[in-house]
Amino acid sequence: MARREGALARDHTDTNGTRYMKTAANYIAGEWLEGANAAEDINPSNTADVVGVFSRADRVETQRAIAAGKQAFPAWSRGSIQQRHDILKRVGDTILARKDELGKLLAREEGKTLAEGVAETVRAGQIFLFFAGECVRIAGEKIASVRPGIDVEITREPLGVIGLITPWNFPIAIPAWKIAPALAYGNCVVFKPADLVPATAHALSQIIVESGIPAGVFNLAMGRGSIVGETLIRHPDIAAISFTGSVATGRTIAAACAEGMKKFQLEMGGKNPLVVLDDADLAVAVECAANGAFFATGQRCTASSRLIVTDGIHDRFVAALTERMKSLVVDDALKAGTHIGPAVDQAQLDQDLRYVAIGKQEGARLVAGGDRLSRDAPGFYVAPTLFTDVRNDMRIAREEIFGPVAAVIRAKDYDAALELSNDTSFGLVAGICTTSLKHASHFKRNADAGMVMVNLPTAGVDYHVPFGGRKGSSYGAREQGRYAAEFYTTVKTAYTNA
Ligand code: NAD
Repeated sequence: MARREGALARDHTDTNGTRYMKTAANYIAGEWLEGANAAEDINPSNTADVVGVFSRADRVETQRAIAAGKQAFPAWSRGSIQQRHDILKRVGDTILARKDELGKLLAREEGKTLAEGVAETVRAGQIFLFFAGECVRIAGEKIASVRPGIDVEITREPLGVIGLITPWNFPIAIPAWKIAPALAYGNCVVFKPADLVPATAHALSQIIVESGIPAGVFNLAMGRGSIVGETLIRHPDIAAISFTGSVATGRTIAAACAEGMKKFQLEMGGKNPLVVLDDADLAVAVECAANGAFFATGQRCTASSRLIVTDGIHDRFVAALTERMKSLVVDDALKAGTHIGPAVDQAQLDQDLRYVAIGKQEGARLVAGGDRLSRDAPGFYVAPTLFTDVRNDMRIAREEIFGPVAAVIRAKDYDAALELSNDTSFGLVAGICTTSLKHASHFKRNADAGMVMVNLPTAGVDYHVPFGGRKGSSYGAREQGRYAAEFYTTVKTAYTNA
């Protein structure tokens, strides 16, 4: 079922025919404002279930949000860091207190399981608490000048109004890891969530508003990338853009930001390798692969989509992983016992199945899955899928599928596995399963990726350390942890002849 967009539907009949849904508004310049347009948010586990109806901002509304941020910036950026701390702490505490309800909403609109939805929500709360602490730890440096009698001070200052553009696959964690540091370091924000997940974005925004944030400092502009996103990336009063999403959109954003001399950071796709060596603990390797490749329906930029397996363990690994896949329950994201929810929408499901067909055409061997599944409710269910006999130059080994589809690539030995692992246009995460300290250490040093995992799934990271990749996966400063200051502040060097 397509997401329906149209003139504002103030009273909306629920699928039960009894409940009426009010259109959820954007938050602009300290006010909740219903936009000119609205769209339904559909549950991918059950397309008959409408999660809500959400406003879609137009260009004028987006410009108002930017203007509000510009007006609020002087007072917010020079105001009390204690106030900033208290607001972010309230947001973090509230998210954690409401984790079950928010996690359920997230799972209902995005399709990850309830456990995954709650875990992501907890992570978002922890991120707000981390950056609450950072508000009162903003430090500079005082350095001796090479000229006697002169003091040199290096300080960090906020940038201004920042446009935050987020994808659908982490509806609360990614917004949190952009909004929290942006506000902590004294910037104002226009937050543009992905079209497919407005409900979580709206709930998070309500929490931020209720935390006492001054008008204009935080603005929510739900709506189209081609309208809200385009307005943000081209507006002269936007100082910087932090973007997570696809490579194609990242390119457009990079070009627009370069043209407008804006600071920008891009977090994009992945084609992450998990190397399994002969000496790996088989059970650990299978668990890492099953988790990294199939959990969250494979819709993670950190998913293990290439399983690079050395000769001596290859057949045992494939047999054990195929066996493990039989125990994975694909069903409604909110049902107890579900391990894997649906694809997020029809387009993503079509893309998954298209790549299954491509893999077969390319001569890879389909050993598990590959089909659309039907369940009690109409949803976008797809079976976890495993290909073997994959060559690293096949499209299923080079292009991001973003579904529960993994490709096993055979390697002669560790050296060949490392070479295959680095032979990709992406560089977000690289994983290895081995009991050899020598190979683990060599891999950590030589994997061409921003993050390396040893005997762990490629997906699943801590919230207080840098996140990001290399090559086609990322551009610009790292996100998260203290490294976030690189992007959300600019450095000033002051000289004083005392
Ligand atoms: P997408 O690029 O289609 O959309 C991302 C965001 O950009 C959305 O909010 C969208 O509305 C907006 N947008 C679209 N066109 C725009 C334009 N012209 N100008 C400004 N904004 C525009 O990506 P998606 O489908 O939502 O997310 C999936 C992608 O995100 C995958 O490729 C995945 O790998 C990537 N991702 C990366 C990371 C990471 O940190 N590396 C994390 C999660 C997801």
